[in-house]
Amino acid sequence: MPDAGAGLLAALCARIARAGPLTVAAYMQACLADADGGYWQKRASIGATGDFITAPEISQIFGELIGLWCAVVWRDLGRPACVRLVELGPGRATLMRDALRAARAAPNFLAAASVHLIEASRPLRALQRRTLAAAAPPAAAAVPRAAGARTGAFPAIAWHATIAGVPPGPAIIIANEFLDALPIRQLVFADGEWRERVVVADAAGGLRFALGARADAGPRAMQPPGPGTICELRPGEEVLLAALARRRAPLVALFLDYGPAADAFGDTLQGVLAHAYVDPFAAPGAADLTAHVQFAPLCRKVRAAGLATDGPIPQAEFLGRLGIAERAARLMAANPRRAAEIEAGAVRLMSPTGMGGLVKALAVRSPHLPQPPAFG
Ligand code: SAH
Repeated sequence: MPDAGAGLLAALCARIARAGPLTVAAYMQACLADADGGYWQKRASIGATGDFITAPEISQIFGELIGLWCAVVWRDLGRPACVRLVELGPGRATLMRDALRAARAAPNFLAAASVHLIEASRPLRALQRRTLAAAAPPAAAAVPRAAGARTGAFPAIAWHATIAGVPPGPAIIIANEFLDALPIRQLVFADGEWRERVVVADAAGGLRFALGARADAGPRAMQPPGPGTICELRPGEEVLLAALARRRAPLVALFLDYGPAADAFGDTLQGVLAHAYVDPFAAPGAADLTAHVQFAPLCRKVRAAGLATDGPIPQAEFLGRLGIAERAARLMAANPRRAAEIEAGAVRLMSPTGMGGLVKALAVRSPHLPQPPAFG
């Protein structure tokens, strides 16, 4: 790939020469979030013509089932007159569009909801705006929010940099493939102790890993690791959970992401460019960088923040319990010409060796609330 990431690479080398090695988290943050060369400012990253594909882009059923899940959660919250429907990292807004369409079956939920999108990418924000404006029923688009209630209600939509910007009130939060984009730290077990894994410049003007200062791996250091073992830490989760814990009103959150349910060691940092895995140093800022979510430590952090967890369960179990087979059958009967495509999409979401098994669903909620649908 000609020159991919060359500008950001030069800036990173200069920064390392000036200020010393970068932690993996600082490297990931720069590659993703840099105001000039960061990946999030790249256009059209998600979808068939982009770098990677996600569940809502594979099948409309994904977002529809989550929209109905949200409507049931709203009922279980006691049908509050005002509820924040929050999505973290909404991508192309396909999930939210499909969720809102399915939720028309629950018009009182739609009338109570305001949508809050947490998005770091300028181009994706613009795309989300266009997608959701096109999805609003014409009457709702023209009529002020309060007057839209009951018939053809379409929620007001606001964008925020972080969840801390979402106004108070009961909240339903959804996040598909968001946590895997949060920068991770990596520690390496070497000579009987954990050391920070850092990024340094190599002699050829590229980047390579090196060992940094001694570091604390927390509770996971209890397990005896072999030399070279890598332990990944996700400081961004603490920040997110602290923001959730600060909300006083009841909340239910749904996280869907790649990663093991049990504690695991290992290097999961991966670059993805044009639907292929690439070395994390191959194209800084041009390739997406993600790492698997570690659900066991995440659940411990959620409980330490005073919230309850349900799951994680494999995506296939989650979607199966929400009725993906029945929904696919109905959709195929109504659209016989698209039947093969609809079936292929559902099969892909459910594949035990693919998304169905590797992606897990985790619910996080205020402890007094009932278990959300599919987790009971
Ligand atoms: N949920 C979407 C997109 C997943 S890709 C889908 O399933 O298709 C990750 C999304 O999170 C993108 O929209 C990316 O721009 C956004 N994102 C990643 N890190 C973020 C952060 N720290 N703050 C806000 N948005 C972020």
